[in-house]
Amino acid sequence: MKFNLKNSFSKELPSDPILGNNRRQVKEACYSYVTPKIPSNPSLIHVAPEMLENLGLSEKDSETEAFLNVFTGAQILENTKPYAMCYGGHQFGNWAGQLGDGRAINLAEVEHDNLIWTIQLKGAGETPYSRSADGLAVLRSSIREYLCSEAMHHLGVPTTRALSLSLSGDKVLRDVLYNGNPSYEKGAIVSRVAPSFLRFGSYEIFSARGDKKTLKTLVDYTIKHHFSHLGKPSKDVYLAFLKEIANKSLEMVIHWQRVGFVHGVMNTDNMSILGLTIDYGPYGWLEGYDPNWTPNTTDNVNKRYRYGTQPQIVLWNLFQLANTLFLLVEKAKPLETILKEYRDDLDVAYLKMMRSKLGFMSENKADCVLIEELEKNLQLSETDMTIFFRNLANLKKADAKDWLKVVGKAFYEPIEIVDNIRLKWADWFAKYAERLQSEKTTDEDRKAKMNTINPKYVLRNYMAQIAIDNADNGDYSTINELCQLLKKPYDEQPDNKKWFVKRPEWARHKVGCSMLSCSS
Ligand code: AMP
Ligand code: MG
Repeated sequence: MKFNLKNSFSKELPSDPILGNNRRQVKEACYSYVTPKIPSNPSLIHVAPEMLENLGLSEKDSETEAFLNVFTGAQILENTKPYAMCYGGHQFGNWAGQLGDGRAINLAEVEHDNLIWTIQLKGAGETPYSRSADGLAVLRSSIREYLCSEAMHHLGVPTTRALSLSLSGDKVLRDVLYNGNPSYEKGAIVSRVAPSFLRFGSYEIFSARGDKKTLKTLVDYTIKHHFSHLGKPSKDVYLAFLKEIANKSLEMVIHWQRVGFVHGVMNTDNMSILGLTIDYGPYGWLEGYDPNWTPNTTDNVNKRYRYGTQPQIVLWNLFQLANTLFLLVEKAKPLETILKEYRDDLDVAYLKMMRSKLGFMSENKADCVLIEELEKNLQLSETDMTIFFRNLANLKKADAKDWLKVVGKAFYEPIEIVDNIRLKWADWFAKYAERLQSEKTTDEDRKAKMNTINPKYVLRNYMAQIAIDNADNGDYSTINELCQLLKKPYDEQPDNKKWFVKRPEWARHKVGCSMLSCSS
């Protein structure tokens, strides 16, 4: 196992002069050197073959003792010095001060096929940023991150990736519902990979401390390595930097809305500077279409991070980043303009995405109204988002009256018995079919196109939970089954039809399926 090491982050940025894992405030530094915890009895559960290839590794490499040791923290790669990154963040709307990699440790930055990848262990022990926690991760949340990050990638959503999932062999104490009933769970480690794990909070920490010098060093580093096409750093380039982050973040959140993904904890420390979906915690997938839904029980009262507000929360987070960059730009107006443009671009991007979900290739002024009516109708009774849009592609332009046969499976309660709901849907489908008349495409072409936008298979909350329950009993086959299934989320996969169903009733109120907390 040989890597082409780059390590520009640790070579070019200031480090914390103190070594050791004790908790502390780290000033004027972007990271601290740390040593991963040696796991007591590590074992590999799963490896993502594509990510292996991206890193220039073979399947044979993944079967070696060295692979197991390196990706569980038992052994440190030659010529590398693992480190934890320092960052801050706004959590649930409030400045939270220093956070940092409390349970993530960067192993190395490697180059392969002209791409740079940072490899990070999640759950490999405490760091200076662990605050009151243990730096560890449990099997259930590690399975959720492992499965979902790969599922998102194959759905075409920008995301950090996963390389391997392992057990540490250690026991970890967790209070799943924060109700005073902690119990021991299996400890696990995910190795995850991204071009960079820098977050909005990585920059905010320096502006919050008035440390303009380190802020500039980090922004200039980021531009040099990840936005080099913007040119040499200057005030104008800092503006272009924000603009590009706004564009990338918009693209990411529009994908979330398209596939029905709810992140659950969109704090600024969980916003990637590269517009990648990052830090899979109490995320969830919309089953019944409900803009007010959040899977995160910690956010149950205010529902700040509910499905419907995700694009606005990105703007709120960009506002914090703009505030930080103000220190370098020293003019508010152009920063405000970028935020305003985000708002305008959001409307355009959302409309474009919804048109594509509905199979419209052309644009019609009245599409906004049709889409608004659709969003209202989807909430008349519990309606499965994935099944509705996937099956919608089967409607024939000339046969609007067949609508109930086409999308009927998406309704959790039979709607044919509820007059007012049925009539509203019939009305909407009449308008939809009429709108389709103005499309030049054939029914078949439209269906083929829609099936590349509306996935057939997503990682429904109960699916991940089945994989977790089986894994807890030592059976990892569901993890593998779901990995295979979710590699081709837009394909029909007739043999896998059992996963193209509404959420089963047993999962409606089950912890882990409909209720999740940050306790991972
Ligand atoms: P999250 O909401 O999971 O992204 O985490 C927010 C902050 O808490 C980050 O600084 C994490 O590193 C830290 N954190 C979360 N869980 C743990 C843990 N088990 N041990 C140490 N730090 C943690
Ligand atoms: Mg985080």
